[in-house]
Order: sequence, then C-alpha cells, then structure tokens
Amino acid sequence: MVDNRFKILVTESFSRKGRALLRERDDIEIVEFPNMISAADFSALLAQHAPVHGVALGATRFGEPELEASKDMKVVTRIGVGYDTVDVPALSRRKVPLMVAGTANSPSVAEQALFMMLTLAKRAQEMHSMVRDGTWGSRLGKLPYDLYGKTVLIVGFGRIGTRTARRCLAMEMHVLVYDPYKPAAEIATAGCEAVSDLEQALPRADFVSIHCPKTPETIGMFNTTRLKLMKSSAYLINTARGGIVDEKALHEALATGRLAGAGLDVFEQEPPPAGQALHRLPNVIMAPHVAGVTVEAVDRMSEQTALNILSALDGAPIRQNVINQDVL
Ligand code: NAD
Repeated sequence: MVDNRFKILVTESFSRKGRALLRERDDIEIVEFPNMISAADFSALLAQHAPVHGVALGATRFGEPELEASKDMKVVTRIGVGYDTVDVPALSRRKVPLMVAGTANSPSVAEQALFMMLTLAKRAQEMHSMVRDGTWGSRLGKLPYDLYGKTVLIVGFGRIGTRTARRCLAMEMHVLVYDPYKPAAEIATAGCEAVSDLEQALPRADFVSIHCPKTPETIGMFNTTRLKLMKSSAYLINTARGGIVDEKALHEALATGRLAGAGLDVFEQEPPPAGQALHRLPNVIMAPHVAGVTVEAVDRMSEQTALNILSALDGAPIRQNVINQDVL
C-alpha cells in the first residue's frame, strides 16, 4: 500500500488546514522540509525520498536538478504567487505543471502597500517619538500628509495591483495604472487612468506602488534615471520583488532628498546583509518579506496549495492556477 502512495514534500510553514486537506486522503504521504534549506540539502532530501510526486515550496529554488532528484514529479506548487525561484521551462520540458495560490494572498499584500503609504504619509515613526520623547512642541513643524486627493501610480494591475487600486480609490486618491499587458478599457472600468508611458507618469505621482512580477523586463525598472523623474515629495512602495528597484540608486535618491521616502517589503538579497546604508535612513520603512504571509493568508495559501496538488494528482489541475499552461 505504502508503495502506491503519492509522496508530497511540504515546507514547514504549510498550515495545519492545508495538511488536513491532504491527510483526508489515504493515498498521500506528507514529508516536511525546513523553510530555509540549502539547494544541496534539498536535492539530497528529494533523492532520499524519491520518487517524490508533489512539492509545496516556500522560497526554495526548484529546477532541473530537483526534478531529476525527485524521479516522478507530477506537480510543483508555490505557497504563494511569485515564481521567479522556479525554472518554468525545465518543468514544461517534463510536462510538470507549476501551480500558484491564486488570490489567496492578494488582499494581504494590497493592505501592506496601503499600510506603508499611510505609515510614511502620516509620519508614524516621527509622531510616535514626539509623544514618547517629550518633543510634543515640535509637532507643528512636521505635519503629516493626507492620501486624500493625491495621485498614486500602480505598476502592475493583476491580482494585487487591482486590489491596491481599489483601496486607494477608497482613500479618494486619483489612481494611475501602468500595465502594458492590460487593456486600457479594463483599467478605466475599474475607475483608474491607464498610462502607457511610465516616464511620463512618474512625475505626476505622489505615491508609486509596485505590483508587477520580477522578470528580465522589470529587473532594475526603478533605476537612477526613473527615480529622478519622481517628485521629491513622492514615496515609493515595493511589496513585489527585490531587484525591481535598484537599491543603490534608491539610497542615493533618498539620502539626497530627491525622494521623500520608501516602503520596502522585499530586497535584492534576502535576508539583506547587515549594516546597509539604505536601512539606516530615517525615511525608509521595512518589513522582512511578510506582505503576503499574514496569519489568514498563510491558511488561505496552504489550503489553495493543497487543492492545487490534489487537482493535479487527480489529472485535472485547476487551470487558472497553472503558470505553464503549455503542459495542460
Ligand atoms: P499577477 O500576475 O496577477 O499580476 C502581475 C501584473 O503585472 C500583471 O497584470 C502583468 O500584466 C503586470 N506586468 C507584467 N510585466 C509588467 C511590466 N513590465 N510593467 C508593468 N506591469 C507588468 O500577480 P500578483 O498576484 O498581482 O502578484 C504580483 C507580484 O507581487 C508577484 O509577481 C510577486 O512577485 C509579488 N508578491 C509579493 C508578495 C510579498 O509577500 N511581498 C506576495 C505575493 C506576491
């Protein structure tokens, strides 16, 4: 019996609810692996448990060597939506679907983007210290700002970008959207203004919030030249992926007063090396890549991942969650 089971490797952050869905089936065996595992250890683990039929990945890389070590991989899933750590062509070559968690974490990331905009505009850290440190008297020299009436530029109008736009509209902001792959009519129907030229839109924005994937096209998208086009009173929020913003250029812009502030949930290197000059700036707020991993989102993503795995093992993968549609 044991030999006929599907063996599924899941990362330790896979929630209890997700595990319970897999455990309802007696043809599935779950093997857990650590969130932070080296590529060599992961390959060794796959080889040790081979044949492995499914995997639920956190940040662990997955490509040709891992497919080879697994021997009979049937489905690769990410407990999330970004997949820049997965070699998609390698999976396609072997007809293995790559599946992601759909909209399970989209509201959470959109909330984090709004939280960062508000935290920066309302000068949360400075206000907090004025009360704590008895510098109340200086409060009128450092007034907070409104989101109301401001212009925000959303870069990427997918599952997260559309939700961030909706939240910004609720704050009575004017919402510009740059997404070359979305029809302007769809953006207009959502109550936003489509912009086709990023360079022309940047000088109009008081806030820029990034929600596109990390691809060869978007790496370094926010470089010195583009950051220079932004207002010196503007804030840049990146909850998408490190590397879309050039951190050296961002440091330069923030340190020289060419940009008012930045909110970063993601970094070029994660975790970032200690003692970075960018991280010591007073106008930067940061989070350790947690926008999409709230308590609720982890449950939603794990449940969706379990359903993705089951659908693929049963021969009918949930189509909208399959990235490499060519394997269907
Ligand atoms: P999605 O695929 O639904 O949307 C991405 C959108 O970006 C699409 O509409 C696409 O057309 C657009 N796009 C692609 N290239 C572009 C370009 N060059 N310029 C502008 N727009 C472009 O993905 P999603 O679920 O909205 O997630 C977006 C990204 O957010 C993911 O790729 C992931 O990297 C990141 N993310 C981060 C976290 C976190 O915890 N910080 C969590 C989830 C997702």
